[in-house]
Amino acid sequence: MHDDIEKVLIDEEVIQKRLDLLAEKVTEEFRGESIVVVALLKGAILFMADLLRRVPLAMEIECLNVASYHGGTESSGEVSFLDRKLPDVSGKSVLLLDDILDTGRTLDAVMRKLKDQGAEEIKTCVLLTKDIERDITLEADFSGFTIGDEFVVGYGLDYQGKYRNLPYVGILKNSAI
Ligand code: 5GP
Ligand code: MG
Repeated sequence: MHDDIEKVLIDEEVIQKRLDLLAEKVTEEFRGESIVVVALLKGAILFMADLLRRVPLAMEIECLNVASYHGGTESSGEVSFLDRKLPDVSGKSVLLLDDILDTGRTLDAVMRKLKDQGAEEIKTCVLLTKDIERDITLEADFSGFTIGDEFVVGYGLDYQGKYRNLPYVGILKNSAI
């Protein structure tokens, strides 16, 4: 698996260090509130596990299965909700976690959905933000790192279902695509 990586963009240690700081900010933001964390599957799984164990607040953890990429290396623009039942967020403060903010369509669609479901407040937190012009004006409230407009894998992010378990974020070799 590591042989398929052209370049490590953000190494494991740097990610873990950054999570300490992100967790502190999240903790300050939600102190004293009753929160529901909603993590988007499957990309946010590693981020969720590593971030939330650093947040010493009482919380409920929910996952939402959405698909937007459908296996390629470019955003399809369509967001599908794959769960039969959405988490109960009515009247609650929500921390929405995703791996990466790219076009913003995923977070935008999920935020609308959660608001429809009665969420009182929604803050977004992503590991990565792509530094691109977005049609949708959306910035995450908390973001780990800003990267360029390139396709990355690892630390939750996949290519055709693989590479999510890499402990770092990297770029694939052409021969692996
Ligand atoms: P958006 O809706 O913001 O365009 O895209 C968000 C979703 O697209 C992310 O949750 C992620 O699943 C996928 N995505 C966006 N950029 C990348 C990337 O560089 N690599 C991978 N593996 N997935 C990405
Ligand atoms: Mg995703």
